[in-house]
Amino acid sequence: MRERFAKLGVSRLARMVEISRILNSANNLDQLLTYIIREAAILTNTEAASILLLEPHSRDLYIVASSNAIPPQMANTPVPLNGSIAGAIIRANKPMFIPDVAKDPRWNKNVDKVIDFKTQAILGVPMRDVDRQPVGVLEAINKNGGEFTRQDAEMLTILADIAGVAVERARMDENLRRAYAELNDLDQLKTDFISIASHELRTPLTVILGYLSFLREEASPEMMKQFDTVLDAAVHLRTLIQDMLNFQYVDTGRESLNLARLDLAALVREVMAERDDTAVAKQQTVTINLPETELPIMADSSVIEVVLNNLFDNAVKFTPQEGHIEITVEARDEEVWVIVSDTGVGIPPDQYERIFKRFYQVEDPLDRHHEGMGLGLAIVKELVELHQGRVWVESEEGKGSTFFVALPVCE
Ligand code: ADP
Repeated sequence: MRERFAKLGVSRLARMVEISRILNSANNLDQLLTYIIREAAILTNTEAASILLLEPHSRDLYIVASSNAIPPQMANTPVPLNGSIAGAIIRANKPMFIPDVAKDPRWNKNVDKVIDFKTQAILGVPMRDVDRQPVGVLEAINKNGGEFTRQDAEMLTILADIAGVAVERARMDENLRRAYAELNDLDQLKTDFISIASHELRTPLTVILGYLSFLREEASPEMMKQFDTVLDAAVHLRTLIQDMLNFQYVDTGRESLNLARLDLAALVREVMAERDDTAVAKQQTVTINLPETELPIMADSSVIEVVLNNLFDNAVKFTPQEGHIEITVEARDEEVWVIVSDTGVGIPPDQYERIFKRFYQVEDPLDRHHEGMGLGLAIVKELVELHQGRVWVESEEGKGSTFFVALPVCE
């Protein structure tokens, strides 16, 4: 390589460095190809230049850029690897010089006819990826005022080497961008689905719940028990649908919040006053530690209620009969912390982060003993973050878990 550069001369070398810089910073494949053929024609002082690339899956060669306008039907027709000049360069993986294409049986005369051009001589070099495997061919066509020189071949080879890597990188960038866009579309589709499904499910469920409560009032004592079972199931369904609906806050972002200054301790007191029925049913004790002073935060109270309810519901759900649940609210520097701890099953350390992901559950979904969809903690995390807060867990398996929510204090 050093020898090659030595022969280039300072001005050409400087030009190569500049080309290399541009090729390494460009990531639009079409612009990149256009730039390469322009530079190839200038560096070798030729009438035209073109690039053929191997399609990565079919391994067919296609003309992807040329100084001459290539009609679409020609651009879409594969150039055979066997029986074409470009194919021979790919297979040999080294430069080739054809002084008179008319005498070469591999030359396809149709090309000139279609593009109205007279090809005389071709200097073609393979474009290679970082592993030195050919990804395409760079051709310089018809040297102006003479024959191709050894130096032209050197120049074109260096350009093709830099270009091959840049093209590969640009292709990867494009694939990545495409995959990312597809992922975004899928995510949007899923969000829309959750939103539509939860809305559509809520309306009939409200009717069912209304009629059930009404019929239960009228039922005989024996029927009452059956009604209670149905009512429990319908209430559970409502909780699941509510989880799905809560994601709308998350997906529409901070602007959907109805922010107001509120006292977090008072809010926790209010929420908990209505919420210990399930814990009572499991004979669990619930202790609430609130500070004497006000702890003001800027928040949407209905959203923070969802956070508190989800953490409390989990504590009840994952704590056995007669366990203990403790809720503490306290000031910490510039933050207010809500700490929900339980004496439940606990969480393995390698799951501390994952449990906050949507639909993630520690138990095997096919063999689980607890109800739920794995959305509760994801909602908690995303809603807390919408309030510029943090949430995390500390736990000891078999002993219990402690969930922390930290929210910024407001002045
Ligand atoms: P769900 O409760 O619907 O399964 P969550 O997102 O609320 O979904 O919780 C995700 C998982 O985190 C739960 O399935 C459970 O494995 C674990 N988890 C959450 N809270 C607790 C807790 N207090 N104690 C033990 N495990 C918990």
